[in-house]
Amino acid sequence: MALVNLIGLMDHARRNKYGVGAFNVPDYETFQAILDTAVAKQSPVIIDVAEVHLKYIDLDDVAYVVKRAAERAPVPVALHLDHGEHFETIIRAVRAGFSSIMFDGSHLPFEENVRQTAEIVRICHACGVSVEAELGQVLGGEGTSERFEADPSVFTDPDEAVEFCARTNIDLLAISFGTAHGLYRGTPKLDFDRLDAIATRTKKPVVLHGGTGVSDEDFRKAVSLGITKINYYTQTSVTAVEATREILAANPDLVSYPLLLQQTREAIKKVLAHQMDVFGSAGICARFPDICIECDACTVPNVSLDGVADTGGHAYQHAPASAPADRSDKLTDDDVQTLIDAVTRAVLKGLNDA
Ligand SMILES: [Zn+2]
Repeated sequence: MALVNLIGLMDHARRNKYGVGAFNVPDYETFQAILDTAVAKQSPVIIDVAEVHLKYIDLDDVAYVVKRAAERAPVPVALHLDHGEHFETIIRAVRAGFSSIMFDGSHLPFEENVRQTAEIVRICHACGVSVEAELGQVLGGEGTSERFEADPSVFTDPDEAVEFCARTNIDLLAISFGTAHGLYRGTPKLDFDRLDAIATRTKKPVVLHGGTGVSDEDFRKAVSLGITKINYYTQTSVTAVEATREILAANPDLVSYPLLLQQTREAIKKVLAHQMDVFGSAGICARFPDICIECDACTVPNVSLDGVADTGGHAYQHAPASAPADRSDKLTDDDVQTLIDAVTRAVLKGLNDA
């Protein structure tokens, strides 16, 4: 099927108490491992492309590959920009065909985070793209052997979360309640009361960032309390590197690069399969064969960039079917203006049609 955004999928997950893994894709081997596992596990899946990983993978290229693969996949696939910090990156992702984006303004003062997030929501919703934003700060870093821990002084405040959701109209809220990005120092202690208060009072799907190091039991409890999207990356990377070391140590004569990658991929798939079981997304597509024809969750008009509204009866609001063919690396000011004009026309058309 075509890419899905996260409006219907997260609503379905919330109502049926499961979480969907958002697995980072900094390279195509990892992508293949994720998709293979989701198909084998009959699980919806979120392909996460982080802005910081664009030094490893091209945004337009990965969008093209994931869109093509999603069309053939028998499970719902969302393509999501992870931790988009720059307006330009977010617009590029929308233009490339991403079905969902995260704007991370968590480092900004509250009012500025509200202002910038609301602006991005308005643009993305006009394009049928769902938006995740973050309040509070999930500390840490990725890609190093350094270990990090959570800081309760920057945990998400439930009162602020309610106000933030109401004023921004976001679709998903990423919160800080005890996890950290990267490898965790010691064992994370999750503040479940805080999660419960935020999920109950905002009524939004809530996102857990920094999944590495969280126990299976804590994941299950977090999902039961309203976590519907789980960002999971560091352990996948660690597994791939450790598997590579072991394979090379056991096969000193190995000179086939594709064979090495294939064997590494199998190691990654085992970790991902386990996580899909724990999150509860495994088997969902078998349990709900009509998972893509549920329409009651749709709230965002799906308007493509050329202003043609999609009136198809799909449950998930699909991403714009066609992205502009121009694939320059960097948007010019004219490109951005053209895009904003197209979005404005689409919004006005939607309003006139309504
Ligand atoms: Zn994150």
